[in-house]
Amino acid sequence: MGELMPAVFMGHGNPMHALRSNHFTEGWRRLGSSLPKPNAILAISAHWYGEGISVTGSALPETIHDFYGFPQELFEVTYPAPGSPGLAERVRQLLQPHDVLRDDHRGLDHGVWSLLCHLFPDAGIPVVQLSIDSTKEASFHFEAGRCLRPLRDEGVLVLGSGNIVHNLRAYRWDGSSGPPFDWAARFEAEARRIMVEGNGERLVDYLQMGQDARLASPTPDHFLPLLYILGLQARDEPVSFPVEGIEGGSLSMLSVKVG
Ligand code: ZN
Repeated sequence: MGELMPAVFMGHGNPMHALRSNHFTEGWRRLGSSLPKPNAILAISAHWYGEGISVTGSALPETIHDFYGFPQELFEVTYPAPGSPGLAERVRQLLQPHDVLRDDHRGLDHGVWSLLCHLFPDAGIPVVQLSIDSTKEASFHFEAGRCLRPLRDEGVLVLGSGNIVHNLRAYRWDGSSGPPFDWAARFEAEARRIMVEGNGERLVDYLQMGQDARLASPTPDHFLPLLYILGLQARDEPVSFPVEGIEGGSLSMLSVKVG
């Protein structure tokens, strides 16, 4: 058996990072070059969140610009990685008995390409995206990660993309700097502690973690991708945090690497 491919959760934040060079994007580039070269990538992004489970089946997924009000140059970014119908089929098989729809029209959303353009700038590795079923409980997403574990043996990098703390109402949109809100820093620190202690599964019950959790994650979409990555963690496997920081007071850019 070869080396077990790490699994990674990344805080994506503002799509403009795709065009920028800063503390976060430099960290993403370092992370990309530190990973073993994957055969393929399975991405799970906060921005494909809806009823049912789907997987991209296209051999050439398009770049979706799923946002408004950003400069034209962001709409011109493309990430022309090939797809992998074979990996899409493998994912469907691993998630049985759940029905996974193969969607041959869906492309890659900004939660995926705004990171991959820094992680693997040459866009040469095939990418498949798996949707997040909004009708399922948090525990389902952790278990789905578990079901996907064999992919790590097969050289597939599973990439979760969201934000552990994601509160856009509290976000300082005026760009002013300043420390994170207390609840944001506390929740992120508590999540880190739980992961470092090897208790990632406890984060399935993150909404029971009090007011801090409810402020940190007012909607589940950006938190759930983390649960897939924690489900992929083998027993006693270490976690590390290759990129850190909280933007605008309420957006955690923390990356979590398993393995
Ligand atoms: Zn987002």
